Amino acid sequence: MLPMNRRHFLAATAATAFSQTAPQQEIIDIHQHTDYARRPDDVLLKHQQVMGATKTILLPAGSSYGLEVGASGNDRCMEVAKRYPDRFVFFANEVPYHPEAKQVLEKYLSQGAIGIGEQKFFLDVLSPNMTLLCDIAQHFNVPILQHFQYEKYNVNFDQFWRVLARYPKVNFIGHAQTWWANIDADQPKEPSSLYPRGKVKAGGWTDRYLRDYPNMFADLSAGSGLNAFRRDEDHARAFIDRHQDKLIYGSDCNDHIGQGPKCSGSEQIAMVRKLASPEVQKKLFSTNARRIMRL
Ligand SMILES: [Zn+2]
Ligand SMILES: [Zn+2]
Repeated sequence: MLPMNRRHFLAATAATAFSQTAPQQEIIDIHQHTDYARRPDDVLLKHQQVMGATKTILLPAGSSYGLEVGASGNDRCMEVAKRYPDRFVFFANEVPYHPEAKQVLEKYLSQGAIGIGEQKFFLDVLSPNMTLLCDIAQHFNVPILQHFQYEKYNVNFDQFWRVLARYPKVNFIGHAQTWWANIDADQPKEPSSLYPRGKVKAGGWTDRYLRDYPNMFADLSAGSGLNAFRRDEDHARAFIDRHQDKLIYGSDCNDHIGQGPKCSGSEQIAMVRKLASPEVQKKLFSTNARRIMRL
């Protein structure tokens, strides 16, 4: 065996030292819920740690519907965030057509909430209810996170540009099936599937909103976000590259484990690591969230 020369020896020890002391990659998860499918707080905390999330945004439900997944509301999110201030922050939320929506949102935004959402309610994006949310977001200088789902939540997606144009100072974060299906220019207006498969033709509504409006951002969470990258990895690479300052990692999974095939959050972390350079990963996992959420 040849003796190791001094330069190689130093390089080897430096590499070892680096791997032992390298800080954990910061991963901000912008999409989780308290009491999600009855998951206890300690299990949520462990799930986030196993997944590798260093900071997590808790998105409350409104005073009714539980976001249709059993998620709890403002008080629970605020309570957990205050119990673990290094690990959790929280948004404010309310059903926009609730008579006290404005007061409720203002109350929690005044008490430390850093955004509005998850907005997952039976709403037309051109309705006065949407205007109310935008006015509050603009006043408090916080983003709105929206679940777009065909014929159900935040409908009239192809008209959403009117909101983006009218409120250039409000940052909007798009999430869920209709948001992600519309990366594809060939996505039909009346979809047969909320989780379309196969090759993507660039230039769908989502692609154009991200390109044309500086105030539009994307939440990578849930099966919909994961499917959007999995269905066509070549498209996903190019999509990530052109929208690298607009994409923000989130998990939105309700498993108790924090890893493996049932944990879409950890699968999406692996996907981002596979598709993006370390420099772009840092934007998706951390710097975009810090900038938009003012963390
Ligand atoms: Zn959610
Ligand atoms: Zn998970």
